[in-house]
Amino acid sequence: MTNASKPGYLSLHEQGLLEERARALRALCSPCRLCPRCCGVDRTRGERGFCRAGSRVQAAKALPHTGEEPAISGTCGSGTVFFTHCNLRCLFCQNYQISREHLGREVSAEELAHMMLGLQDRGCRNISLVSAAHFLPGILEALILAAAGGLRVPLVYNSNGYENPEVLRLLDGIIDIYLPDAKYCSDAIAMHFSEAPDYHRINMAALREMARQAGHLEVDEHGSALRGLIIRHLVLPDGLTDTYRVLRAIKKNLGPFVTISLMGQFTPCFKAAGHPVLGRPLSPEEYEQACAMLYELGFENGWVQECGQDDRAFVPDFSRPDGWN
Ligand code: SF4
Repeated sequence: MTNASKPGYLSLHEQGLLEERARALRALCSPCRLCPRCCGVDRTRGERGFCRAGSRVQAAKALPHTGEEPAISGTCGSGTVFFTHCNLRCLFCQNYQISREHLGREVSAEELAHMMLGLQDRGCRNISLVSAAHFLPGILEALILAAAGGLRVPLVYNSNGYENPEVLRLLDGIIDIYLPDAKYCSDAIAMHFSEAPDYHRINMAALREMARQAGHLEVDEHGSALRGLIIRHLVLPDGLTDTYRVLRAIKKNLGPFVTISLMGQFTPCFKAAGHPVLGRPLSPEEYEQACAMLYELGFENGWVQECGQDDRAFVPDFSRPDGWN
């Protein structure tokens, strides 16, 4: 392993610095300000805030995920760990079983480290932490054990983009690949569909911090991501996500060379089913228009999809042993 391909957390582990970061993150649990909601509940005493997360890490699934972007999934899948709970309440959440119905079980640091190492043994090119913000102290404790046990693949932070910059700064050098959403531009729409006050301002600040830490996407000789930032934007029907304004804001903040994954896979899940606007899949024409915006703004790096229709293959069923429909 060259220094260029060595995951950042390994260097910090060798210097004995991960424990310090875990302690600093633990201090942010009481009162809790692990995310921008800053609920102020004492998580160490079992109090629960907006996200409903308790004091111990809760996970719903750990599996090789083949449906992510090519640089993330590679040929063997991304070693994905889905954490229970979420700090957003998106009406259309495709992971609602874990985000809103709180499916999952408590896992110890030892168990979580074992899951990470197991995914690496199965050939996964990275470990991807999905919705991890509210459990970061416990996840870092697991990472320390996993690094000591031989974890060597890059760490992906898969996020809804509603993050506390103070927390992100504590992840500097630990996360190799940031994979955040940029969901909305309109505060009214972010409130209505995700109960997320001030989403756009908070999201842009988070993206800037992630870009500062990870830089542009770098891949290895197989095309697998080694480090960098990939921003996801899911296009919703009826222009709800204000795609042009979101993309323009990304370009203004981060320039045209940032990597964008423009997603057209919207499926009316959860409370979107039967909703007057969200109750239908994105049309191919709507997705084509979104792609045209991406090209018009001059973005050069990233992925578009061939879909734009109701695609159930992207929707996991966390109650099933294999986790996917
Ligand atoms: S992580 Fe949960 S409890 Fe903590 S501030 Fe965010 S929503 Fe509130």
